[in-house]
Parts: sequence; structure tokens; C-alpha cells
Amino acid sequence: MSGLELNQVAKIYEDGYKAVKNISLKSEQKEFIVLVGPSGCGKSTTLRMIAGLEDISEGELLIDGEVVNNVPPKDRDIAMVFQSYALYPHMTVCDNIAFSMKMRKVPKEERYDKVEAVAKILQLDQILDKKPGALSGGQRQRVALGRAMVRDPKVFLLDEPLSNLDAKLRVATRAQIVQLYEQLDSTFVYVTHDQTEAMTMGTRVAVLNDGNIEQFDTPGNLYYNP
Ligand code: ADP
Ligand code: ADP
Repeated sequence: MSGLELNQVAKIYEDGYKAVKNISLKSEQKEFIVLVGPSGCGKSTTLRMIAGLEDISEGELLIDGEVVNNVPPKDRDIAMVFQSYALYPHMTVCDNIAFSMKMRKVPKEERYDKVEAVAKILQLDQILDKKPGALSGGQRQRVALGRAMVRDPKVFLLDEPLSNLDAKLRVATRAQIVQLYEQLDSTFVYVTHDQTEAMTMGTRVAVLNDGNIEQFDTPGNLYYNP
């Protein structure tokens, strides 16, 4: 069974602009798919449709074989990490990570076990009591990752999560995201305009241009057949 499937998906915005023309792709149950392409080619729009933040104008979106076009975001088995981390400034790292579990009324003990496990993977265990204002950019982005992780989503969406980091941190955090992927059983969909990021992180890379997928293949095949 596939994790995620887009079947001839298109997006026409209210002003009539067709930002996504015809996108089809199918992932394995566990896969790291990168959407790469120039600014304005429709990467974010595609991701936002998968998340349910934008309506799908044409075509079908399936998660685990079920059409979810009309399923609201909160009922999709999905978590999303944005480029701006949007942490709660008045809450500690621990409470930021635990927030969605609290909303879902997960028992306190279970919440703390989960935060601890996630913090260990993301190397946040030493700073659980700090507030976002006292953290570096890389630490903040890891908290944002942790917040998405505790939901154990089937599909993990990341929209240019590294673009606010400096070059050195970007490389380090990139490796951490791949590590995270290896430890989970989720499908990752990762948006970037950075070709190096695409080629080093993805199991498969979808090259977008002007609202269409031009190529969809492994980094190795793309490298030898550009
Ligand atoms: P990317 O993520 O690849 O930079 P986007 O998906 O953000 O591209 O945008 C694709 C195109 O759709 C762009 O031309 C953008 O200006 C346009 N677009 C994005 N959002 C809207 C909107 N709400 N209304 C109209 N056009 C939009
Ligand atoms: P990105 O960083 O993904 O390229 P943008 O900065 O282009 O995103 O867009 C930020 C927000 O503005 C998004 O919510 C997007 O939907 C909206 N937007 C982008 N382009 C347009 C547009 N041409 N008309 C209306 N809204 C737009």
C-alpha cells in the first residue's frame, strides 16, 4: 500500500490563477520525497493541499489508499513544519512539544514520556525548561520538528524548514531531519528550492516547473540523466 498518492491534482486560486496544473505522484509507505523547483512553481501550494490548508481544485489526494480531498486538516494523519517555527513564546520547550497532546487530552505521564523520547532524538533534552526566546535558530527549528513528531503522523510535511538557518546549521539540521526520517515509519514530503538539499535528502525527488512535475526519480537517476 502506498503512503501518499496525488492523482492529477490541480489548484486554481480564487483569482483564476492555476498554480498547480497536473500533478501525479505515488509514494511508498515509508519514503522521503523532495519537491524541488524555482520560486513560484507550486511547491508550497502542493504541500498545502496535502495538509488540507488549501482546497484541491481538480484530482484526488489519497492517504493510505483513501481519498481525503474533503477530510479537514485536523482529521488527516499529517503533521506540518513551516519555515517560520511559530513556537509559543511564553511556553517552555517541553510545553511547546507537548501542546498538541494536551489538546488531544493525552494523559500527563504519557505526554512526558513522549516529550522525553522526542527530545532525546532531537538533542533537546538539556533545554526542555527554556523558552523559545533563549534558543538558537537551530534549536527552535528542532523544537518545531519535535512538536510535529509527537503526533506520529503518517505523512510528515516540511516546507523549507531550513531556510531561516545559517549555512552551517542548515547542514547539521539537514542531517538530523534525515536521521529523524530513518527512525520513523512516515512518508516525508519536503519542499525546498535548494538542489543540493534535494539530492542529498530525498529517496526520490520531484522536480517541479510551472505547476507540473518534470521529473520524478531517485537522486542517482536524476544525477546521471539530468
Ligand atoms: P513555490 O512554493 O514553488 O514558491 P507557491 O506554491 O507558493 O510556489 O506559488 C505558486 C504560484 O501560485 C505563484 O505564482 C504564487 O504567486 C501563486 N499563489 C500562491 N498563493 C496564491 C493565492 N492565495 N492566490 C493566488 N495566487 C497564489
Ligand atoms: P513561499 O514562501 O512559499 O513562496 P509566499 O511568501 O509566496 O510563499 O506566500 C506567502 C503567502 O501569500 C501564502 O499564504 C500564499 O498563499 C500567499 N500568496 C502568495 N502569492 C500570492 C498571490 N499572488 N496572491 C495572493 N496570495 C498569495
